[in-house]
Amino acid sequence: MRILIVEDEVQLADALTEILKRNKYTVDTAYNGIDGLDNALTAVYDCIILDIMLPGMSGLDILSRLRSEKIGTPVLLLTARSEIDDKINGLDRGADDYLTKPFVTGELLARLRALTRRRGELVDDNRLDYNGLELNKNTSSVVFKGNDVKLSLKEYQIMELLISNPRQILPKERIIEKIWGYESDVEYNNIEVYISFLRKKLSVISAPVQIKTARGIGYSLE
Ligand code: CA
Repeated sequence: MRILIVEDEVQLADALTEILKRNKYTVDTAYNGIDGLDNALTAVYDCIILDIMLPGMSGLDILSRLRSEKIGTPVLLLTARSEIDDKINGLDRGADDYLTKPFVTGELLARLRALTRRRGELVDDNRLDYNGLELNKNTSSVVFKGNDVKLSLKEYQIMELLISNPRQILPKERIIEKIWGYESDVEYNNIEVYISFLRKKLSVISAPVQIKTARGIGYSLE
């Protein structure tokens, strides 16, 4: 999953980035409102962690702009204790949740999980399931009938995207955006390499699913 952090306190922003990466999120970080808005408008994120007081453009203005552009990315506002009016204002403008600084990491992660939870396929916070095949976040592995095989970080992220959208063709462009980001110069054949690793691993555990190629378009989990 891809998260955008917009926070001008560099130390806090960088600490959050590290924590989220360790929890297997893909993270982009913006340190001012202008860059934050630019990133957010791409609409590739599963959640945006948005500070309110920002140089360039306030978090609330970013939020209003996103919602006026019909971008519904979940937004978790970061507020200071003194900004109670902003908090109310933020929820009115379409924020999904807020967290008052200072906060503990565990709470941030829990709120993030709640905001990015997808319908139906989440077994618990650390496991996704499709057709008996389980993707386990704690162990970075896919499991079927007690057999498991470890995935690399990119393999895990691609598998997470596929298993969260089963039976849908995911265009290669979307996979690249989600996992490598817009600026990346990843080539399409890099994805093919990861997909072929994943296919081998799925066959090793006799998984009841297949990654199908939609020629010229992308991939789907069937
Ligand atoms: Ca700030």
